[in-house]
Amino acid sequence: MEEIVLKPVGQVLSSAEEPEDMPLGGLEAVIEIFPEYLEALKGIEENSHIWVLSWFHKAPRDLLRVKPGRINPELPEYGVFALRAYGRPNPIGLSLARLERVEGHRLYLKGLDAIGGTPVIDIKPYFENDAVFSPLTSYIKGKNREIRQGILSKRALVHHQEECRYLPLAVRMAIIAEDYLGKLNSLDLFVRVRGSVCLADCIQGISRARLANPPRFSFQQTEENMESEWKRGKSTLLLRLKSDAELEGLELREDQELFHIEYRE
Ligand SMILES: [Zn+2]
Repeated sequence: MEEIVLKPVGQVLSSAEEPEDMPLGGLEAVIEIFPEYLEALKGIEENSHIWVLSWFHKAPRDLLRVKPGRINPELPEYGVFALRAYGRPNPIGLSLARLERVEGHRLYLKGLDAIGGTPVIDIKPYFENDAVFSPLTSYIKGKNREIRQGILSKRALVHHQEECRYLPLAVRMAIIAEDYLGKLNSLDLFVRVRGSVCLADCIQGISRARLANPPRFSFQQTEENMESEWKRGKSTLLLRLKSDAELEGLELREDQELFHIEYRE
């Protein structure tokens, strides 16, 4: 087939200059649209999120299989079409970013994973119908707790849209549940939450457990004796917060200090 010729419509300004400098969740960044495309931005400020298609100009193009090495080098290889790894035959970046504001030809973004100087090839709005709440995905488990915390925090934040005090609590509960029961977004994992609406919302975002079809999630609102219960088959894990005061500085505390942990198989 004939070659396809793309013309960049803008470029990325970011504090990350090399692919290795880019954290998994992306960074705050600016996209500068070139003057000849300024008209194409009309109305874009009505959107809170946009898809950015870019050209990962520093990525290798000779890779067909890779390991998700940054998340866990011990995992098996995947085909590059089954991963979002940046090295691939056509290194097109597909990034979902939050659009904070628009000033003239500049888009101010949060969560963009393209480095400074990346050519932007297209921008499209993110629509409500783009959201698949509970997709089936490969289980790319982070190699350590720090990486898993980053992944699960991002997932909770995308759903809850607020970095409130219950988000780290939900993430910690989910990390422990993953230690005991494995992949959290799977159809045979059931979650019950007693606690604040924020806690329930964050746990629902992490576990992708819907109320129905199949029913995987239930919730009772309370501000005291907060707990979550996670079930797969005959295995049940109950995590009960020892005291609300423990919510501050949660990262510094051991699991056993924070929770009563009951596990039955
Ligand atoms: Zn909240």
